[in-house]
Amino acid sequence: MEKYLQYIGGEFIKPRTGEWFDVENPYTRQIIAQAPKGGADDASDALEAAKKAQKDWEKRPVPERAGYLTRIAALIRANRVELARTLASEQAKVFPFAQVEIDFTSDYFDYYAGWARIYEGEIINSDRLDESIFLFRKPIGVAAGICPWNFPFFVMARKVAPALLTGCTIVIKPSSTTPNTTFAFARLVASLDLPKGALNIVSGGGATLGDALVRNPITDMVTLTGSVEAGQEIIRASADKVMKVSLELGGKAPAVVFADADLDLAARRVADSRLLFSGQICNCAERAYVHRSVYEPFMEKLTAAFKAATYGDPFADPAPSMSTQVDKAQQEKIDSMVKRAVRDGAEVITGGNIPDMDAGYFFEPTILANVRQDMEIVQKEVFGPVLPVLPFDDYDEAITLANDCEYGLTSSIFSTNINTVMRALKDLKFGETYVNREHFEGMQGFHAGWRKSGIGGADGRNGLMEYLLTQTAYIQF
Ligand code: NAD
Repeated sequence: MEKYLQYIGGEFIKPRTGEWFDVENPYTRQIIAQAPKGGADDASDALEAAKKAQKDWEKRPVPERAGYLTRIAALIRANRVELARTLASEQAKVFPFAQVEIDFTSDYFDYYAGWARIYEGEIINSDRLDESIFLFRKPIGVAAGICPWNFPFFVMARKVAPALLTGCTIVIKPSSTTPNTTFAFARLVASLDLPKGALNIVSGGGATLGDALVRNPITDMVTLTGSVEAGQEIIRASADKVMKVSLELGGKAPAVVFADADLDLAARRVADSRLLFSGQICNCAERAYVHRSVYEPFMEKLTAAFKAATYGDPFADPAPSMSTQVDKAQQEKIDSMVKRAVRDGAEVITGGNIPDMDAGYFFEPTILANVRQDMEIVQKEVFGPVLPVLPFDDYDEAITLANDCEYGLTSSIFSTNINTVMRALKDLKFGETYVNREHFEGMQGFHAGWRKSGIGGADGRNGLMEYLLTQTAYIQF
């Protein structure tokens, strides 16, 4: 069994607490690894290492820093199968999709390496005679990147790549549920001549090591991907420091199917968006609104797609549509939300139960009808393969229901009418809207939640800017 070590200042070291926690494979329910249960001292050691490295790292020409990103991308590619195996084992992501996450991550490092010669400051005309105004872009300094369990490898890269490119150094904290792929990455990176301390990886609890990363005076910026609750804790913990936080939090994405939609496409894409990775994706379709005139045929097609979805061993060949939930706590949370919905009048169209299986923490692909807008199952993030579906009568009602939510991460619309699409794009209050396709973002966009779904965002030019400060110079000549 693997026993991982903290990666601090280019060295692998034991946690100062002398403690480790177990990592479970959620399909086999076997303990497959142990990761350091670090505390505040580990956080402090890692941040000191990052601070020591930062000044030199920042001074290096950007293409030199980009060169490391390119080499990291190549290393990931050379180890893609092994990394995907580790990923699929620690979180029951079906193997082909685990491979997609690994490959997307290597492309992501290459993508941000490409920004080296593109991002720039600005020169602005002054109101004064013989004066120019320059805007310089400078790295924020030391970033702490706190990661969730659902895309542990990609989300780690989403923080590491822009941080290193812009001249920041970084301390990464993986989720205690899924630290294995991140530590496997640390071992790969250790084989490069990346300056010691530019990238550090430490594991431990959120309320202990995570909180210490946030409160430590060395940390110049925290980037968290996780739940709204963790985001709120981080805002509170960083209030005294008035520190930059970039928060990518939960979602409750609506999928709106208008009367003129291609119903086969809509049913397929909504099902994909709900069932991929067992519904454990922040931008997944979490609720659907369907025009009453097409409600019945849409439900028929959607139900067929959910019933056709298979679940099982993430390594099975051919791969099932999905595997298990990440742990027992998630399975029980989903089950109790469905039970409360049914108690309050929801009708189970398909699924609705924990299946009787020898392995894994499965939950059946589930469609719920007869739900009301104010029900918990329609308002709160489920993070599982459960879709409540509601009918609507006209455009205004659809938009009102879709926007009626404390989250504002993603949304989707299905329509063949360009006017309806453009109007809905104007009226929907979400950071991301997918038109006639599944919910899944690209690296050149900007993944940024509105309302409780977050502050700031990731990817593309705007994601890069999160790691940069602007200095304005007024130059008289
Ligand atoms: P989580 O909030 O439980 O944990 C996320 C990370 O935060 C973990 O590393 C955890 O240890 C750490 N943490 C928790 N409390 C902390 C604290 N007080 N201080 C510092 N760190 C703390 O989330 P999770 O269960 O790992 O992930 C699922 C959630 O993440 C879902 O809500 C999902 O929607 C969200 N998510 C959002 C995005 C996005 O891009 N918006 C992407 C993936 C996941």
